[in-house]
Amino acid sequence: MEKFTKITTGFVVQTYEKDSAGKFVCTAQEFIAGDDVQFENTKGEPIEAPEHEYQPFNMTMTAAEYTIKEQCPDSVPSEIKVKVLSEGGQIWIQPDGYGEKCAMNDEGWPVGIEIWQGRLRLIIFADINREDAQIIDLEKAKETARMRCNWCKKEIETDSIKWKGLLFCSQACLDACRAAQ
Ligand SMILES: [Zn+2]
Repeated sequence: MEKFTKITTGFVVQTYEKDSAGKFVCTAQEFIAGDDVQFENTKGEPIEAPEHEYQPFNMTMTAAEYTIKEQCPDSVPSEIKVKVLSEGGQIWIQPDGYGEKCAMNDEGWPVGIEIWQGRLRLIIFADINREDAQIIDLEKAKETARMRCNWCKKEIETDSIKWKGLLFCSQACLDACRAAQ
């Protein structure tokens, strides 16, 4: 026999903590092994416990891994492995080989996304020699932030027709609004 499966029944214990927004988020998890352990061969048939080294049940909050590739067809093809970690109610991105001034190599997460004081924002450490992050506020990317005509509520492309700080899709809507004042 070259391979077997060990199936341990037990409990998953997750710890939740309040984040800066007062919301409970999972910050740690562990597996508590029970007494019920079964061994199976590759065909799924029960077998006697083979002699094997003990492996602890580590359950760290693991990052998902993706690969990004050069997008310009005229450039030399290249790719970078990227880890994405969801922890404490934030999401952090770590392209392989990129980091932060105040983190050891392989331990920096130079791009983050979070909610701060009700606003969605990106946190970008764009320079390994600088401690401070650039903050990019994303509230204007909200779908509800699309420009709409103040009279007919239709979506509009430009804000060229304005009156008293209100936007209109056409002169007709502006006139109708003015007439109703
Ligand atoms: Zn309109």
